[in-house]
Amino acid sequence: MDPGLRKRMQAARALTTTRSGKRLNFYITSEMFPSISITGSQCGLNCKHCGGKLLERLISCMNPDTLIDTAKKLDGKGAKGILVTGGCNSSGKVPVTNMSDAIKTIKDTTDLTVIAHTGFITPEEAYVLKDSGLDGIGFDVVGDMGTAKRVYGLDVDENDYMSSLDALSNADIMLFPHICVGLDGGRMKGELHALEMIKGHKVSTVVITGLMPVAGTEFSEIKPDPIDFARVITEAVEMFPQSPITLGCARSSGRDRELIDHLAIESGVENIAIPTQYAVRYGANHGYVMEYYGTCCGLPPSKNTRIPGVVS
Ligand code: SF4
Repeated sequence: MDPGLRKRMQAARALTTTRSGKRLNFYITSEMFPSISITGSQCGLNCKHCGGKLLERLISCMNPDTLIDTAKKLDGKGAKGILVTGGCNSSGKVPVTNMSDAIKTIKDTTDLTVIAHTGFITPEEAYVLKDSGLDGIGFDVVGDMGTAKRVYGLDVDENDYMSSLDALSNADIMLFPHICVGLDGGRMKGELHALEMIKGHKVSTVVITGLMPVAGTEFSEIKPDPIDFARVITEAVEMFPQSPITLGCARSSGRDRELIDHLAIESGVENIAIPTQYAVRYGANHGYVMEYYGTCCGLPPSKNTRIPGVVS
C-alpha cells in the first residue's frame, strides 16, 4: 500500500478514536429492521449493478393499507423499524411521498423507527415526509455524472443531486447519504467528489457502501478494489471530523468483505453494518469496545435499539 495512504489512515483512525473512544458499533438489520419495497420488484431504471434483483429479496407492500398492515405485524413481532424503499421511476425517484399518510399512521400507532430511500426529491416532497414523522432518509450520491448515465441510465447533472441534498437539509430530516465505492463497473470515479458534494449538509453519518456482485446482472463478476474503501473512508473521516463514518451493508462477500472491514476499521470507520466475523475478532484482538444495534446503519446508536448480550 502507498505509504502516504497508510499514514493518512492512521491519522484518520486516531481522529475517530479521539472523538468517540476506541469503539465499534455493529448494525444488524435482518428481521429487526426489514426493508420494504413499495414498488414490489418493479423498477424503471434497471441499473447495471442491480437490474431490479435486489428488490426481489424485500417485503413487497405496493399500497398504503398493505404497508400499514405489514408494519403493525412487524411491530407486534418485536421489529425495531423498517426501511421503506423500492424501485425508481425513470427520473430516479422512489415514490415514497405517495406513502406519506401511511407512514404517518405507522408513526402514530407503532413504536417503529421508519426511514426511507427516496432518490431525487423536491423541497415540497421533503416537507411532506418531514410532516409524516419519517425518521430519516438515505440518499445515494454519485459524484460523476458519466457514472450516473452509464450505471443508472440517468441524464442528470450535479445540480440535481445538490438540490435534493439541499431539500432534505432544509426540511431538517435526518440525512445519511450513501456513496457506493466502485459503482462504475468496479472503478473509482466520482466517490471523492461525492464527499465534497455532501460537505456543508447536516448529516447523521456518511455511509460508504460498495458495488456488490449480484447474480444475473451485468456487474455480477465485478468487485471493487478493497483499497479503494480505505481511500474513500480516510477522505471521509478527514472531511467530516465531527461525524461518524459508516461502512454500509452492501459490499462484497467472502475474503474481499473481510479485507474491506479490516481496511475500514484501520481508516477510522466507527459503524459497520453486517460485520464479518473477522471484523468482530479484529475488534476483540485490538481492544475495541463493540456494541450491536438492530437498525439500519444510518441511525445513531441508541439504547432503544441496542441488542444486549454484546461483546465488550
Ligand atoms: S447501508 Fe446502512 S442505511 Fe443503507 S440499507 Fe444498509 S444498513 Fe440500511
